[in-house]
Amino acid sequence: MAVVAVDIGGTTVKGALFDADGTVLDRATVPTFPVRAPSDAAASTSGPGATADAGGPALAAVVGLVDRLAASADRTGRAVTGIGLCSPGLVDAAAGRVVLAVNLGWVDLPVAELLADRFGVPVALEHDARAAARAEQAARSAADKSVDEFVFIPIGTGIAATIFTGGTIVHGATGGAGEFGHVPVVPGGELCTCGQRGCVEVYASAGNVFRRYREAGGALAASTREVVELVGTDPVATRVWAEAIDALATGVVMLTAVLDPSAVVIGGGLGEAGERLLAPLRTGVAERLGWRPVPSIEQSLVGAGAGLAGAALLVGTPVQPHPVKES
Ligand SMILES: [Zn+2]
Repeated sequence: MAVVAVDIGGTTVKGALFDADGTVLDRATVPTFPVRAPSDAAASTSGPGATADAGGPALAAVVGLVDRLAASADRTGRAVTGIGLCSPGLVDAAAGRVVLAVNLGWVDLPVAELLADRFGVPVALEHDARAAARAEQAARSAADKSVDEFVFIPIGTGIAATIFTGGTIVHGATGGAGEFGHVPVVPGGELCTCGQRGCVEVYASAGNVFRRYREAGGALAASTREVVELVGTDPVATRVWAEAIDALATGVVMLTAVLDPSAVVIGGGLGEAGERLLAPLRTGVAERLGWRPVPSIEQSLVGAGAGLAGAALLVGTPVQPHPVKES
């Protein structure tokens, strides 16, 4: 037995084949919108299966990826018993529909039903951030860590937070709770894409760390990862990173004052920076929060694969926490 998990993004669709105990058997990633030769344009919406028409190229990419992973399961004598999907945008998980995902070109798409018809197995759908957060919660539970009062903050292209209180996710009145990236922390600071100034995200998202490094004249790094590696040796990288940590620390102090979490868990691509991020963040938060206990600031147990783990969890596959070095 095996399940296929799919994390649908605006640039790539990532998939993995999990066995029943949550071990990854195979992985594959395809572009969401394959570049086609002009002569193929007429065929661009027919895709690899009949179900691809309604969802355009993005659904064709998903179907092709599931096909590939199902074939991989077949080669090892395993039957695929379910498909778990996570999608950006407005998602009606109970109905299995993506209500609106602008980056995918999907409007009211019954994606779970379309894939269930095509592959003949149960299909479950969830919003990508919520799926990732539930995977983190499951991994924490497996590792005997507190799961009732914590905040999960994946840091990637953007920064959002999923707030758990009483063990459940806070959605807010309009479903918009957790926009931690758009908490203003630098009065009169840099302009954010949201229209405000000084948002956490402008200073601390992976993309913005690299943008600010280049704008400050940094020339030694070609990626955010390299900026982080240059901290302590390149003065520009050191300053830009310190400003990112400052913005995050101020934001975490606000979260802590309002929510009193037991843990703040940092995930996403930038979360892989580990102690280079966590150690100064702990210091920054502790310096500001002298008046009360500080939450534990930890690295994600599921890391950058949280979306896939969350998608697999939707169809009953346990989440295996990958080992994280404790400080
Ligand atoms: Zn903003």
